[in-house]
Amino acid sequence: LFTGPVDFLKGVVAMSGLPPADRIEVCFAGRSNVGKSTLINALTGRKSLARASNTPGRTQEINYFTLGDSHYLVDLPGYGYANAPVKVVEKWQRLLKQYLSGRPTLRRAFVLIDARHGIKKVDEDILTLLDSSAVTFQCVLTKADKVKAKDRDRVLAQVRGALAKHPAAFPEIVLTSSEKGTGIATLRAIIAGLE
Ligand code: GDP
Repeated sequence: LFTGPVDFLKGVVAMSGLPPADRIEVCFAGRSNVGKSTLINALTGRKSLARASNTPGRTQEINYFTLGDSHYLVDLPGYGYANAPVKVVEKWQRLLKQYLSGRPTLRRAFVLIDARHGIKKVDEDILTLLDSSAVTFQCVLTKADKVKAKDRDRVLAQVRGALAKHPAAFPEIVLTSSEKGTGIATLRAIIAGLE
């Protein structure tokens, strides 16, 4: 689907560090431990492209990956760390706001939600920010292999209900398991189909 190298490009800590806006771009956001690194690795077919374990001090960068010659995949720092210092959180929120409202080539944000837990308050804050930044976002449920069908359907209904309140939400929810490979090809095709 993507022609050209899939690779880590750079970590960015300020808007001045962003690469030229010359490719279609998608970003990935999610609470820490939602399975974001694992999903990015599955998506790119690279075992340890995105760091599989994150600690607050190391993850305040916006990480850019190339998806072939046509797309950037952007890994946003995980949010919702229990012990993250207020100053770090504030700095990150400032950069996030600047990034979301100042990136003309950003076509879609994928917001990762644990299929066992549904949308929490910290997720709601990001969704509201995406609304106000006018960035279309799509919810991706992670770790689908960890949830029974009945619980999954309950979470899907909760997420659907929450999305109805967000003007920037794309209605289709993608169910994934990086463990089983569920939904990975679908997600790849969604990204490749963005123009
Ligand atoms: P991040 O903090 O969002 O980048 O989360 P990680 O990718 O580091 O994943 C957090 C934990 O969840 C790790 O122990 C992963 O092995 C596990 N994990 C991630 N994706 C899946 C999945 O699809 N299924 C299962 N069962 N575990 C997963």
